[in-house]
Amino acid sequence: MMMMIAQASICKTRLPSLLSTTCMLQPRLSRQLSTGANDVAARLNSSGFFRTQGLIGGKWVDAYAGKTIEVNNPATGEVIANVACMGTRETNDAISSAYDAFKSWSKFTAAERSKCLRKWYDLIMANKEQLGELITLEQGKPLKEAIGEVSYGASFLEFSAEEAKRVYGDIIPSPLADRRLFVLKQPVGVVGAITPWNFPLAMITRKVGPALAAGCTVVIKPSEFTPLTALAAAELAHQAGVPPGVVNVVMGNAPEIGDALLASTQVRKITFTGSTAVGKKLMAGAAGTVKKVSLELGGNAPCIIFDDADIEVAIKGTLGSKFRNSGQTCVCANRILVQDGIYDKFASALADAVKNLKVGDGFSEGVVQGPLINEAAVQKVETLLQDAVSKGAKVLLGGKRHDLGFTFYEPTIISDINNEMRISREEVFGPVATLLRFKTEDEAISIANDTNAGLAAYFFSSNVQRTWRVAEALEYGIVGVNEGLVSTEVAPFGGVKQSGLGREGSKYGMDEFLEMKYVCMGNMS
Ligand code: ADP
Repeated sequence: MMMMIAQASICKTRLPSLLSTTCMLQPRLSRQLSTGANDVAARLNSSGFFRTQGLIGGKWVDAYAGKTIEVNNPATGEVIANVACMGTRETNDAISSAYDAFKSWSKFTAAERSKCLRKWYDLIMANKEQLGELITLEQGKPLKEAIGEVSYGASFLEFSAEEAKRVYGDIIPSPLADRRLFVLKQPVGVVGAITPWNFPLAMITRKVGPALAAGCTVVIKPSEFTPLTALAAAELAHQAGVPPGVVNVVMGNAPEIGDALLASTQVRKITFTGSTAVGKKLMAGAAGTVKKVSLELGGNAPCIIFDDADIEVAIKGTLGSKFRNSGQTCVCANRILVQDGIYDKFASALADAVKNLKVGDGFSEGVVQGPLINEAAVQKVETLLQDAVSKGAKVLLGGKRHDLGFTFYEPTIISDINNEMRISREEVFGPVATLLRFKTEDEAISIANDTNAGLAAYFFSSNVQRTWRVAEALEYGIVGVNEGLVSTEVAPFGGVKQSGLGREGSKYGMDEFLEMKYVCMGNMS
C-alpha cells in the first residue's frame, strides 16, 4: 500500500510530557493548534487512554534509552505528543512477554476469549467519539470519517468475538478400520502485526481481533505517524480484561523492530499492511525462520465506467472510492477508465461533484477532504501530476496545493491519461482522479489488468451479462460492481499478484492465525 515515505520520524531524547506547552511549541512548519483541536487534545489527555509509552507485558514503559519520537497533527504540523521511540531490546522483551502469555491465553476457552474481545469492542464503541477525535488529530481525516473508522475497526473485534467460538476441526473417514483421523485447528503462536497510518485503528483490529480469537498473542508495531490510536486501543484492551502480555505495542525504529520480529524463532507469524517495498522485505526476512506471512500491500485500482452505466451510481461510487481519506487508501480508485460514449458526460458530472468537496481541518464542520499525511505525500502527488502533464495529461480541476497551504491539496481531476504515465503505474495516494479513455470492453480489461498490483477493482455497468464477465476477468482480490465502498468485516479483504498474500476479515481471515494439526490414532479396533 501507499507511497514510500521516508521514515520521517526521528528518535530524540524524551521531552516533557505529552501535550505540554513545550511540545506544542516544537517548530517544523507548525501552526498553532486550532481552538477545536486544542480542546480535543485536552479532553483526550484526561480521558485515560491517551498513552505515549509502549506496552510490554501489561506495563506501560518508556523506551529503554529514554528516546522519544514526535507525533504531529498533519493539518498543522503541530506536535501532539512525544511517544517512546523503541527498538530491538524493547521488541525482544515484547516478544518474550507475548510468548509467555501465549501459554495461558491459548488455553483459555473460546468463550473466555470471546468475552474479552466483546468487552474490548464495547469499550471502543463506548469511546467512539473520543477515539474518532484522536484519529482526526494524528491522521487528519474528517471527524465523521474518523468516527466511521472507529465503528469499522470495532466491527472486527465483534466479528472475531463471534468467530472465536467457531474454530472447528474435522474428522476424516479413515481408510483403515483400526484408525481414527482428525484435524485440530490450533493458534500459530506469537504474531508480529505491523500496521500503517491511513487507518490507525482498523488495520490493528483487523489483525489483532482474529489473532486473539484464534488464541494467538501479538506484538503490534503501529506506524510512527499514528501511534496514539494504537496505544489507546491497547489501553482499552487492557481495561477489557485482555491479560498482560497478550497485546503488546512497540514503536519507534521500524527497521530495528521489524528485524527483531523477523529474527525471533518465537514469532510464528507476521501480518503486515503497508507498502509493497516493505512487504517484500518482510517476506524475504521471514524466510530465515520460515514464518507464516500475510501481506496487504499496494493496489492500483482501476475503476471502469462503461457506456451502459447508471451515471449517478457511477459518480457516487467513484467519489466514494477515490476521495475517501483524501485518496489515501490502498483500495482508492487509481485509474478511472471511461468508455468513449460516456466520457465527456462523466467527466463533467465528476467535476461538478468534486468541486463541491470541502477541504479543511478534519475538525471543521462540513469538511470531507482533510490534509495529506505529510509534506512527502504532497510532494509525491505533485511529482506524479507533473509527470502526467508533461506527457500530455490535462488538468480539468484543481491540480495544485490548496489555498489552506501546508499539507492540503485541491481535489483534482486530470484527463487524457494513459497507462504508461507514472500516475497510472504507482499509487498517487492523494485526491487526484485520473481519467483514461477506452473503446471496448476487452481493451478496458486489458488496461485494468496491466499492472503488478491486484487488490481492488471497480466497474459500473447495467448490463447483467457484462457484470459477470468483467467481474470474472479482472485479476483482483476484490471487485466492486456498481459500488465504490466494499470493505466490511464480514467479507475477505486482500489482493492477488504483488498486492499481497492472505485475507483479512470474514471467516477466512481466521485461517491466517491457525495451524492445522493432523492427528492419526491407531489401535482403535
Ligand atoms: P506507509 O508508510 O506508506 O504506510 P510503509 O510500508 O512505509 O508504508 O509503512 C507501513 C508500516 O511498516 C509502518 O508501521 C512502518 O513503520 C513499517 N515499516 C517501515 N519499514 C519497515 C521495516 N524495514 N521493517 C518493519 N516495518 C517497517
